[in-house]
Amino acid sequence: MSKNSYLDTSSYFRIIDNPDVNDFLRECDYLREPSDSEIEEIINEFSPINYNYAELPNNIITIDSDMYEASIRKELPYTNVGYVKVVSSLLQKNQYSAISNNHFVDPFKIAKITKEKEEIMAVLPCSNVSYKKQLSAKDSFRLALEDFFDSIKTIIGDKEYTLKETLFWLASFKDKCDEEKIVLHKCPTCGKENITLLNIKEKQLCPYCESHIFTSDCLRIYEAVQEDGVSNLAALGRLKVVLKHIYLAHILRTIKLSNKDNYLSAFENLVLIINGTLSIAGQPASLHSSIMRIIYDINKELINKKKHPLCIIGLVNNGNICTFVDMIKNKLKNSTLMCVTDDFRDKYIDFNRAASSTTFGAETYYGQDFIYKSKKGKTFVFNLPYPFPNKDNKVIFKTEKSKIEHYNNILPYAIKVIDEFDCDLSESKIVPVVLSEKYTAISLEPGATVLDLLTKMHV
Ligand SMILES: [Zn+2]
Repeated sequence: MSKNSYLDTSSYFRIIDNPDVNDFLRECDYLREPSDSEIEEIINEFSPINYNYAELPNNIITIDSDMYEASIRKELPYTNVGYVKVVSSLLQKNQYSAISNNHFVDPFKIAKITKEKEEIMAVLPCSNVSYKKQLSAKDSFRLALEDFFDSIKTIIGDKEYTLKETLFWLASFKDKCDEEKIVLHKCPTCGKENITLLNIKEKQLCPYCESHIFTSDCLRIYEAVQEDGVSNLAALGRLKVVLKHIYLAHILRTIKLSNKDNYLSAFENLVLIINGTLSIAGQPASLHSSIMRIIYDINKELINKKKHPLCIIGLVNNGNICTFVDMIKNKLKNSTLMCVTDDFRDKYIDFNRAASSTTFGAETYYGQDFIYKSKKGKTFVFNLPYPFPNKDNKVIFKTEKSKIEHYNNILPYAIKVIDEFDCDLSESKIVPVVLSEKYTAISLEPGATVLDLLTKMHV
């Protein structure tokens, strides 16, 4: 019998009283409440904000994603299909201002004016399900993901912008090549490295083993698919996160291509909010550097034309930094802001790693962390895109990225978005995010029940 079965919550308190466990914990550093003198130091890291607000852009698009795994039939608990959904919803500031009148915001009225939303959903085979006669869980997942990328297109006028082409666009920044090819890290079947895939409609084969290779293989999510696992939540979780950021890139690309003459005005009049950090972890992490570059290039054009940079905000709602902020928020002064440095993070927030030899989030983040306490006394953690094209020189990047002056042209907009859409219903969240979570949630009733039902009807 496994010892683990004793580790239920009722035995938890006896365990931490155990002298061996106590000795062990004495050897550990972990997130804890700062002492009074540390609080003093922490408060000193915050600076008061006194911005002369510029006018907010009118169009606020929020991008959010969710996932859900359901068994095909109740009596087959390990026979699963997975769903990953991304929703982008548009809220227009002038319509919002017209109904929000200072204090009370009617959620029904808000729901009416955010009807303009777009959603995409990938349905993926998980444990014990074979898709189109594929012989392994990995190949079933790969083919279904490729079919999904093939099927998603945004149509504007007589032009189609496909999500698959957005992958080629993203890769062109990483591989420093044109948009006609992607170099796969390796062939998913034989493992030979650097396999070139062309931007064509025809099916393509690995030149070494002649197995199918797919555009979406570049995301490497199949590496997280478990061949004999009871669930595919690891792979679905990776997809859930990366799809949000790919969709952000897709929106930017579509705006640019469909407004060839005035896309800068479109960007100037836009706020994009990602529900979550501006980072991509795990197998597809390397995409973060393409997105960083894309945003940098757009902003360079905007700034050259004397416009303000594109306002992209990641609203962070979990992780160590949020736990830390929860512990100290009552001690912070209202209307103050901190740009989180690596040194601060190493000292107060992250205890599970040596101070990074390069920089925090070197392989994953494209945005800088800020902690903000508003005039009303609410705290928020948010990310703004790094205003640099790359992290090639990590020593310089590490110090430059958290100098607040680099963000002076964008911070007033971000703070204004947070203040203006502050939501009394929810601590640390703003109205566009609360709404988008409602639209996106597939793991909440009754949406999930509908998906369960669909799964059972169609497989
Ligand atoms: Zn091969």
